[in-house]
Amino acid sequence: MSRLFEKFTVGNQEIIALSDGAPERALGGFFNGVDPALWTAALGIAGPDEGVPFNFGTFLISGGGRKVLVDSGFGAPAKAMGILGGGELDLRLAEAGVNPGEITDVIHTHLHGDHIGWNVVKGADGADTLSFPNATYHVAARELDYWLNGAPKDDDRTKTAAYHTVPIQAAGHIKTFDGDVEVLPGISAIATPGHTPGHTSFIVSSAGAEVLIVGDAAHHPVHFEHHDWIPGVDLDPAESTRSRGKISALAADRGAMVTGGHFPILTLGYVRRVEGGYRWEGVGAK
Ligand SMILES: [Zn+2]
Repeated sequence: MSRLFEKFTVGNQEIIALSDGAPERALGGFFNGVDPALWTAALGIAGPDEGVPFNFGTFLISGGGRKVLVDSGFGAPAKAMGILGGGELDLRLAEAGVNPGEITDVIHTHLHGDHIGWNVVKGADGADTLSFPNATYHVAARELDYWLNGAPKDDDRTKTAAYHTVPIQAAGHIKTFDGDVEVLPGISAIATPGHTPGHTSFIVSSAGAEVLIVGDAAHHPVHFEHHDWIPGVDLDPAESTRSRGKISALAADRGAMVTGGHFPILTLGYVRRVEGGYRWEGVGAK
């Protein structure tokens, strides 16, 4: 199993998980205020400083004349980190046989730097260039409005969001959506606010099967079992906790397979209802 590139199938739809960086890192920041004894036991690790596989991931969904990318990786910062596959999304796309000009759509879970990193890159002449010049970028209206109008202007995250969206907006390539709607044929948005105001997960449907792709509504599968284990970076912890409840119920009720951009490749599973909550059941797990 490669940690950078793996294919899986949902119904008749092939999806490729592409990493833009696969570090080992300590995950304590994603369990803010939780007793380390609890979350380390849940992850099966010896202590909070133990590194575990992590991912800055994207997904490629091809078919029906479209090549759709779910998020666009971390880009240059991941390369600078010197991590496995860091900032190599261009190589992963080549491995998939896809030319950047062939990407028809990019759908964004949210506008943090590790999800939009390839939108705008420095060209050979140092000028800002669109990596996917023919793509339409789909972003929740609330998310775009927050980062361009509502977020603190002097924050690095705000500057990064603007860098990777304003030139695309100027080119007329951003299309916004509101709430739980079908964004593209067979791909529907599930509003999961909290991590950011317009954070969105996506459900891909094919031939009666579904996969739920979560962005940062869950950084690790254990978040489906503990909705109130809150990442320190969530802007609205109460709302992100409710969103984890929403997607856990949705995945369990619909029997949808689940994966996420920060889960190491290739993590797939189901969320099952159990007494008093939910249980993550990894595909292939013993
Ligand atoms: Zn993220």
